[in-house]
Amino acid sequence: MNFNIAIDGPAGAGKSTVAKIIADKMNMTYIDTGAMYRAITLLSIQNGKTDVNDIIELAKQAKICINGKRVYVNGKDVTDDIRNIEVTNHVSKIAKIPEIRILMTKIQQQIAKNKGIVMDGRDIGTTVLPDAKYKFYLTADLKERADRRYKELIREGRKVTLQQIEKDIIQRDYQDKHRAVSPLTVAKDAVVIDTTAKTIIEVVNEILDYIKK
Ligand code: C5P
Repeated sequence: MNFNIAIDGPAGAGKSTVAKIIADKMNMTYIDTGAMYRAITLLSIQNGKTDVNDIIELAKQAKICINGKRVYVNGKDVTDDIRNIEVTNHVSKIAKIPEIRILMTKIQQQIAKNKGIVMDGRDIGTTVLPDAKYKFYLTADLKERADRRYKELIREGRKVTLQQIEKDIIQRDYQDKHRAVSPLTVAKDAVVIDTTAKTIIEVVNEILDYIKK
């Protein structure tokens, strides 16, 4: 495919599930940009870094590799670790650091240079790939998003409560929407899809229908 697809939206809106299916069906490569911010967050926690300049330095040195569905940092597979609660609760604080965003944006743009990428995140349609041929913004009611995340984490065997997940999502939404650099907003040329009462397949088909138009 000689085009890219940007899929943005808040936590739990179904972006990654939908983006993976779209990428498979269209023989494109899926890139989860949230995983990159999570990887830097994990590194900063593991190295006990809290100072912004130290975290920026750590990010500059880090070799992040997204290989299929696995994520590696400095050669180590961190696919599971980047999903832990500590990372989830810290990631928006790391993602708001402008220097970190500039670094990640450059890597993401480099990955998408040769096209054929389905990229999901918060600022793909607005900042990372403003020229993406197709842009979608997925959203859903807070309760629905919290419920989806909760079920997903329980399936993975994690110990969480629905109330805690809801609280985390509210906090993360707030931070993602109110940061100074590339906050979560709807790109003006994005197709907005409310996934609240829809199944994954319905959302996938809606996107595919739009692309085939
Ligand atoms: O998509 P996911 O929930 O894994 O993203 C984790 C966090 O990474 C988001 O809450 C947001 O703070 C940050 N992020 C971002 N820009 C992106 C992707 C994710 O700021 N493009």
